[in-house]
Amino acid sequence: MSVHEMVSTVFEFTGGNLCLDFANTLGGARGSGTREHLLTYHDLVSWSLQAGIITADQAALLQSETGREPGEAEVVLARAHKLREAIYGLFSSLTRGDQPDGSDLFTLNTELGWALVGGHLIAHPDGFTWQWPAEQQGFSRMLSSLARSAATLLTAPECQFVRECASPTCNWLFLDNTKNHRRRWCSPTGCGNLAKVRRHRQRRREQERG
Ligand SMILES: [Zn+2]
Repeated sequence: MSVHEMVSTVFEFTGGNLCLDFANTLGGARGSGTREHLLTYHDLVSWSLQAGIITADQAALLQSETGREPGEAEVVLARAHKLREAIYGLFSSLTRGDQPDGSDLFTLNTELGWALVGGHLIAHPDGFTWQWPAEQQGFSRMLSSLARSAATLLTAPECQFVRECASPTCNWLFLDNTKNHRRRWCSPTGCGNLAKVRRHRQRRREQERG
């Protein structure tokens, strides 16, 4: 299978951080109409390839192995959905200043337990980096990167700049790297533009009413 065939859907990456982009693989607003972008294990592999957490060779291997063990791929997809909702729940509660949900933290910690197995530090002339086993956990290898990404952001100072889109029909998360930290929309061309159109229509209606 070529890389082109593996990329069936082109995903949006507007979150500014791996784990936030992963949370954004569910479109719409949770609880009132959502759009699932990870319908199959194939979608999960395709997203992971586009996110840069697996290589094209690894993606091809995972896709070919899926045919032999479809049941295991389904289990990993269900784990991915559960991890995603836990990541969304943790960061969303943070943006509201609420206490995190215990079951969301438990889900992340469970995946993190697997994700940290075999991790070790490598020394470089200018510092140290984490190194992870190349063949970590087969089908679920991308979940390890996602769990570590969430743990890293949750414990980083920039965690305070995680925001949830201001649109009532969108739950996307993003890291607000703007200078004054007043970004409100997941994307200026998507929700930001819709809000602009709505404001424009509202102003016109008010002008027409005089
Ligand atoms: Zn949005």
